[in-house]
Amino acid sequence: MAAIIIDGKAVAAKVRESAKLRTAVLKEKGIVPCLAVVLVGEDPASLSYVTGKEKALAEAGMLGRDIRLPSATSEAELLSLIETLNADASVHGILVQLPLPKHINEDRVITAIDPVKDVDGFHPVSVGNMVLGRPGFLPCTPHGVLVLLRELAIPLSGAHAVVLGRSNIVGKPLANLLSRRDVNATVTVCHTGTKDLAKYTREADILIAAAGRPGLVTADMIKSGAAVIDVGVNRVSDPRSKKGYRLAGDVDFDGAVEKAGWITPVPGGVGPMTIAMLMQNVVEAAEIYSRSISGD
Ligand code: NAD
Repeated sequence: MAAIIIDGKAVAAKVRESAKLRTAVLKEKGIVPCLAVVLVGEDPASLSYVTGKEKALAEAGMLGRDIRLPSATSEAELLSLIETLNADASVHGILVQLPLPKHINEDRVITAIDPVKDVDGFHPVSVGNMVLGRPGFLPCTPHGVLVLLRELAIPLSGAHAVVLGRSNIVGKPLANLLSRRDVNATVTVCHTGTKDLAKYTREADILIAAAGRPGLVTADMIKSGAAVIDVGVNRVSDPRSKKGYRLAGDVDFDGAVEKAGWITPVPGGVGPMTIAMLMQNVVEAAEIYSRSISGD
């Protein structure tokens, strides 16, 4: 039997609706949640991500402070901008679109963001809070994956989750969140050093592909009935498309859909969740600010 195709757009719409309602409550108190979105350079993929985020902010009734800087911007200039945004009480969240041009040190830039405005959840303080299970901003893509799994009522406790990828923004945090006591999955992390990847993937009740390798996961690597979450977004050349390329995940969807129990499409699976979780983090940052000025 073919898998249930997970509608990430529908789940994301619910999360965004809730962020919109919370925004309306804040507006009654005179606070409009505001995210500063900083884009350095003109990378087309980054530009399209930034545009998507700004559109989502507007739809939720939030403000986007759109800051576009030339690719020649120095690290010192960017750090100084972040200092200004940190000090600006009307800005509740700061997002610096990655990747940054090579001459800028991403770690230094991320660390410069005030953790109370770190809605991407990439600051070492946010990462530390996540690992310790303390309150803090969770990174949007891994959090979105968790929300999807929960919304679909996919059994998590005691399940074996196999995560392909160990990046700081997807693989590592996902592995951490899935092994939390309230999720309770047993997690295996695979990466470029893994020998015989299929040996692990075939054991997965939940298989999460975040390797950035189109077609890496084929049907024969999937346990029958597993939940397959495809985080990968890869441009593959396609002469039939006007742009000359199309977006593909890490999973060979056509084969996998026949074997899996649940599967996310690309696009329309994890991608919309990332933006939705960002909206949730921005409204949360504004709520934290609201409480801080009211002394609640
Ligand atoms: P990354 O390149 O930083 O990390 C990829 C990871 O995959 C590495 O840890 C590497 O060890 C592992 N890997 C690579 N090839 C492998 C292989 N053959 N076998 C096993 N492991 C392998 O990438 P990232 O930033 O984590 O992103 C991963 C993918 O997710 C990319 O396609 C990216 O575009 C996509 N992504 C999507 C969203 C979204 O919102 N949908 C958000 C972030 C990233």
